[in-house]
Amino acid sequence: MDRLKPAELVDMGICPTCYDREHGHSLYGDPAERMLYENEKFECMLIGNPRAPGHTIISTKEHYKDMMELPDALCKEIYSFARRTMQAIKEVYGAESVYLCTMCDGPMNHFHVQMIPRYAYERRGSRNFVKERIDYVVDRAKLLRLRQLLNEEI
Ligand SMILES: [Zn+2]
Repeated sequence: MDRLKPAELVDMGICPTCYDREHGHSLYGDPAERMLYENEKFECMLIGNPRAPGHTIISTKEHYKDMMELPDALCKEIYSFARRTMQAIKEVYGAESVYLCTMCDGPMNHFHVQMIPRYAYERRGSRNFVKERIDYVVDRAKLLRLRQLLNEEI
């Protein structure tokens, strides 16, 4: 079962995100260093193959295939937290704006919200959702500031 690609797991009827969590993060790598916030229902982290510096996701602990399947209270909680995250990314990364999207790809899709910064030097528009992926570069000061903003009581 090792060295499987996410698309192969999906074809086998296995959610890659759940598989990754149940198999010591063998698929996507250990997210601990990129984790910004976590509670018993969802987690928020910088992603390992961002489309822009500061690209962040929120993902549920439990498997829901998409937003339509989320319980209403959890949906509200996550989107409220997403707004807070977008504001934090904008401030910490100096983005001009932050885009939000979520995939609804079928039963093996694991619900997550993506927040993709757009910088002043980038053109506006939907192409920001599919910017080429880049390497994750550790920026310790920004990471710590985001953690601070997202974990403080409000
Ligand atoms: Zn899943």
